[in-house]
Formats: sequence, structure tokens, C-alpha cells
Amino acid sequence: MRNIAILCSGGDVSGMNPALKRFVEYAKEKELTPYFIYDGFEGLIDNKIKAARYSDVSGIITRGGTKIGSARSERFKQAEFRLIAKKNLDALEIDMLLVLGGDGSFKGLDLFYKEHKVKFCGIPSTIDNDINGTDYCLGVDSALNIIKTSIDAIRDTASSFSRAFVVETMGRDSGYLALITHLTSGSELCLIPEREYNLADYEEEFKHQMKNGRRYFLVIAAEGIEQNSQDIADWFEEKIGIEARVSVLGHIQRGGNPSVKDRLMAYKFIVNAIDGLLDGQNDSVICYDRFGFNFKSIEEVTSTKKVLDSELLGYVKS
Ligand code: ATP
Repeated sequence: MRNIAILCSGGDVSGMNPALKRFVEYAKEKELTPYFIYDGFEGLIDNKIKAARYSDVSGIITRGGTKIGSARSERFKQAEFRLIAKKNLDALEIDMLLVLGGDGSFKGLDLFYKEHKVKFCGIPSTIDNDINGTDYCLGVDSALNIIKTSIDAIRDTASSFSRAFVVETMGRDSGYLALITHLTSGSELCLIPEREYNLADYEEEFKHQMKNGRRYFLVIAAEGIEQNSQDIADWFEEKIGIEARVSVLGHIQRGGNPSVKDRLMAYKFIVNAIDGLLDGQNDSVICYDRFGFNFKSIEEVTSTKKVLDSELLGYVKS
């Protein structure tokens, strides 16, 4: 029997629990012994590593977050702690790792592989969908569905009270969540870091719409734009003459029941990652693009910033 472990690193996403469930099932199907490493690289250093049983994953497919915890770890950036991590894995004869995380986590693992030859496969997991080389990261669809539900509710109150709502979405310097939300929520305006804008350009049109009976506006603003959401709301009050409110969706976007798409993608990411490790992939990330699932190097995934799909960007009116 060979041993394989999984950990979660960086921000948690909805879809990690379905991935953990599939990990235990598929590892056993492949006659591997599955292990959980609790609390990310911190747990790897502190030897929080335990054999994973079916009972550990029973009932978790419906839950957001991750049952085994996630963390950021300053210590893992230091060689002395990575050596401790390697000794912990050796003691349990674990020589394959799966990591649900972002590009920072993959860089750390690349270093770990180069130093200690622990084979790993990264599974892109971030609601920001900003990892180069993959069109999909685990957690994105669940986050988009939470945003959809929130905005549908905000629309109800915006229309009743005749207000402008500036809804701020997460994504750090990526406007992906805001862009998809804009295209699927019927909002009037989408403000993202990938696109320059000047609110004054919309003034005449929005005033005209108000005169013609528009009762409310929905604005989707990505957290990464330079302007503060409150300043945008103030602009609506001062220039358009409509009461305005800000709604920062925040961390609710990361939690909640995993969507069908995330459950299925979790399933496929895990199967492909384990197959890849068994077929000789040592130091890579399993990506999903128009060609399907394929393995990409850490260099390719981490060296370039992901750019937004130009077709989607083209749909946004400027
Ligand atoms: P998210 O996008 O959700 O933040 P991430 O994986 O990009 O996920 P980071 O905080 O960048 O999150 O990285 C997670 C962890 O990976 C860090 O806390 C650290 O332990 C490790 N790590 C990141 N960069 C390096 C590096 N250059 N060398 C060693 N370890 C690293």
C-alpha cells in the first residue's frame, strides 16, 4: 500500500468538502491509504496528520468550508520548517500530496518538491478564479450562486424603496466575480479593475433613465477598483439624485452549500489529480481549460497574471 495525503491552504472555498470526500473514496479505490493533514502547512509542520476514514467524510458533501481546516503559514516559507514537514511525512511513509489552494500554496509546494522530492499535485481552489492556466477554480460557481441570491434579494428592496445599490463583490484584484454577476443579474453598471471608467460618462444617460421612470439602479463593484464603494453611492446621490446604499457582500461569498458544478468539479479534479500522480506527474497543477483537464507546471500557473476572457469583457458597455 502507498500513502497519499491532502491538505487545504489559503482561503477556504465551498467545494473543498466534496473534494475531501472524493479523495478518501478514490484513494481507497486505487489501493492507496488516504491521510488528512489538518490546518494547512501549519498542520504539516505540527504533525497534525491522520489516516482518513470513510466516517470522516460522511455527510460533508453538503457543507461549505473545509472539514480539515485551512491556514496560511509563515513558517512554511522557511527551509527549517519545511524539513520538519518532510520528516513528518517520512514517518508515515507519505510520498504524495494533494493541495487545495491558490498560487501561493503551489509556489511553496514547488520549493518543497525541489528540496525534498515530495510529489504533489495542486488543485486550483479560489473564488477569485484568478489562477493562470485554468478556466475554472473550485469554489467559483458556489460563490457566484451566493452572490446571485444576494443580489436578487437586494433588487427587491432597491425597487421597493427607489434606491441605487452599490454591491461590492470579492476578488482581490480580479473583476471576474463582478463581471459574471453583472452579465447574469441585469445590473446597470459593472466596475472592475480590468476596465477604466469615469462615472461622469454615465451621468446623462442615468438621469435620462430616471426621467423616463427608472426606479432603481444596481451597480456591481469589484473590491479591487480604486474607488471606494461609498464614493460611488455618494455620486449617485449627488449627480443622479437618487438615494443610494452600499452592500459589501464579504465573506458570505466563500461559504454555503457547494453547488452542483462545484461538487462535480471537485470529483473530477480529485480523480484526475490522483491519476496524474500515479502516472508520474510530480510537480504540477491540474487545470481545466477548453481542452479538458491537463497538467501545467508551477511556472506556467504562477508566473503570469490571469487575464479576463476578452469575449466576456467585450459584453460590458463602456
Ligand atoms: P489564496 O488565493 O486563497 O490566498 P494562496 O495559496 O495563494 O491562496 P497564499 O497566502 O499566497 O494563499 O499562500 C498560502 C501559503 O503558501 C502561505 O501561507 C505559505 O505558507 C505558502 N507559501 C506561499 N508562497 C510561498 C513561497 N514563496 N515559499 C514557500 N511557501 C509559500
